[in-house]
Amino acid sequence: MTKHATRIQPSPGPMQVSDKIAIQISHMNKWFGAFHVLRDINLSIYRGERVVIAGPSGSGKSTLIRCINRLEEHQSGTILVDDTELSSDLKNIDKIRSEVGMVFQHFNLFPHLTILENCTLAPIWVRKMPRREAEETAMHFLEKVKIPEQANKYPGQLSGGQQQRVAIARSLCMRPRIMLFDEPTSALDPEMIKEVLDTMVELAEEGMTMLCVTHEMGFAQAVANRVIFMDQGQIVEQNEPKEFFNNPQHERTKLFLRQIL
Ligand code: ADP
Ligand code: MG
Repeated sequence: MTKHATRIQPSPGPMQVSDKIAIQISHMNKWFGAFHVLRDINLSIYRGERVVIAGPSGSGKSTLIRCINRLEEHQSGTILVDDTELSSDLKNIDKIRSEVGMVFQHFNLFPHLTILENCTLAPIWVRKMPRREAEETAMHFLEKVKIPEQANKYPGQLSGGQQQRVAIARSLCMRPRIMLFDEPTSALDPEMIKEVLDTMVELAEEGMTMLCVTHEMGFAQAVANRVIFMDQGQIVEQNEPKEFFNNPQHERTKLFLRQIL
């Protein structure tokens, strides 16, 4: 298949997409100073969708998903997450942050905390969860990502793939309704990519709404119900994976696919 493709088993059954909107972005624009980084973004994501965002480096993929949990601020248009509008209202930002989990390329674990402490920190301090319950929740999700035996180690003692699975478990401990992934496997050695993708496939099968920036086109083909192609701050085209890969419409998409496939 593709030179980036890691073998992913296609999902056994059809994954359900709801008719309820999880994220709605309308006429959204963002600038960094004078640089117009996102241009008139219009995008509706329904609950249960698995959307892959692809596009060349610098096209605005990270900035777009960072706007969705307000790590970046947009300047015009609207972003609604589960009907809550992202504005400068801090109350709304807190609500969104607890509903939307994010996993980064470089894991971003706290190096001086154990794996368990990494997973219980936000539930205890943000969610005000009793420590015992937070620890039980953490162990549940560490088991889910198949590394409960690492709970008392520090991030530096784990492989990259294990650290990324901890990062996913840590996000899940906040019980998000939506998960955003920004190139979660790009910093990993090839032999570790699959273990992280397998975890993401399981999440998808459980019905998690997922938005993933990734170059893993094998994952896109097996798991996504929609692929979005961005270039120069715009959504150039989007389609279901089969059509997207077999029948790209725009020259820029064709060029991109020729480069990566
Ligand atoms: P991608 O994730 O598709 O590679 P990014 O969203 O990271 O793209 O970046 C889009 C563009 O915005 C790039 O030209 C990048 O240099 C620029 N950019 C990203 N973050 C900032 C920032 N904090 N300040 C100024 N420019 C930025
Ligand atoms: Mg990026």
